[in-house]
Amino acid sequence: MINIYTLGGYEEVGKNMTAVEYNGEVVIIDMGIRLDRVLIHEDVEFQKMPSKELRKIGAIPDDTPIRNKKVVAIAFSHGHLDHIGAIAKLAPHYPDVPIYGTSYTIKLAKSEVKSEQYFEVKNPMYETQYGEIVQVSENLAIEFVQITHSIPHSSIVVVHTPEGAVVYACDYKFDNNSPLGEKPDYKRLKEIGKEGVKVLIAESTRVAEQTKTPSEAVAKMLLEDFFYYDGMDEKGLIATTFASHIARLQELIEIANNIGRQAILVGRSLAKYTGIAKQLGLIKMKGSRVLRSPNAVQKVLREVSQARENYLLIVTGHQGEPGAVLTRMANGELYNIGKDDTVVFSAGVIPNPLNIAQRYALETKLKMKGVRMVKNLHVSGHASREDHRYLIKMLNPENIVPAHGEFRMLTHYAELAEEEGYLIGRDVFVSRNGYKVEISR
Ligand SMILES: [Zn+2]
Repeated sequence: MINIYTLGGYEEVGKNMTAVEYNGEVVIIDMGIRLDRVLIHEDVEFQKMPSKELRKIGAIPDDTPIRNKKVVAIAFSHGHLDHIGAIAKLAPHYPDVPIYGTSYTIKLAKSEVKSEQYFEVKNPMYETQYGEIVQVSENLAIEFVQITHSIPHSSIVVVHTPEGAVVYACDYKFDNNSPLGEKPDYKRLKEIGKEGVKVLIAESTRVAEQTKTPSEAVAKMLLEDFFYYDGMDEKGLIATTFASHIARLQELIEIANNIGRQAILVGRSLAKYTGIAKQLGLIKMKGSRVLRSPNAVQKVLREVSQARENYLLIVTGHQGEPGAVLTRMANGELYNIGKDDTVVFSAGVIPNPLNIAQRYALETKLKMKGVRMVKNLHVSGHASREDHRYLIKMLNPENIVPAHGEFRMLTHYAELAEEEGYLIGRDVFVSRNGYKVEISR
């Protein structure tokens, strides 16, 4: 019998963790953190907090239900922190268990481990290729299927069991025109569907949107439409997006080159994600600069403020996170942002109340300083309702467990599944953090 342990991300957007059990053996998929729970305590240093404390504030998943189980493998679906950010706190609970993921994902996981000072992660970590099937025990094998999302090397994780496949589709979108050239592997997904899918575990963040999520090519066009026309006549240009969104950063760097400005990426997290992407040949940084140390940031931003028309600043802080570059600018630090500047938000607001509040505060401060704001030059990396419907049709799963969302998002997904002939409680299971779904049929 297959059991699905819904450990994190089943009543929130964040701290994703799921475990698949077959015949007493367990594969863990993802170990994420919930950043808003850490950020709300401004004096808290995440790295220094013991896992017990972090569990108590709901920042990392509570893995108690599987602590004494025979865990045979840990798989990471992609490199976002809400999927790998708790590695240093949780992987030591399973000391010799190997961790698998695609190259960019594993390199980011290793960098998380390296920045950790208080826990030692001894697990062997392996970079896997799309299409490779890794036999992790006599009965269980894992596979990473190529998919598109908002970070390179994203995958749909498949746990192959003697009863059929367990497919974990968190996070994904179907992008058929990705500027980075990544493609969803429809062929393999359909094959897996034919071979037999016992359970589909699917994200539900945007399932209520009755559409198909547009391609990243649309975001590229939105940015070009602004920067190549209206933006050309502006003095100071500042763009903000996700530090891990390599495709978007690539577009911004190209745009800067094409309008005769130098792209300057400001902040440690931008340096981290682009640095590893560059190693893997996933981004071309030609013409740009990356400022990492606080001294370099201060010095260069002072120079930039004297000749704003020569630069495109790319900064962190689109959610108004405390300590991020744009937030500090809005607070009057680092750079005298004001009426000569235009801020382009190439990001939506992450739908949780803290983000919404912080973003509101950020925008208000910028407005008070006379900054022009161009919002939402962005498309989401998450599947919408009709993408989800297509995935269900391709895989034809016997059972579905909606994941990666607040309770209302999970139930929206269940509603979609009912439209496709499933029935809640019979073959669609809405769970909560810390519970187990027994797949008995
Ligand atoms: Zn993600």
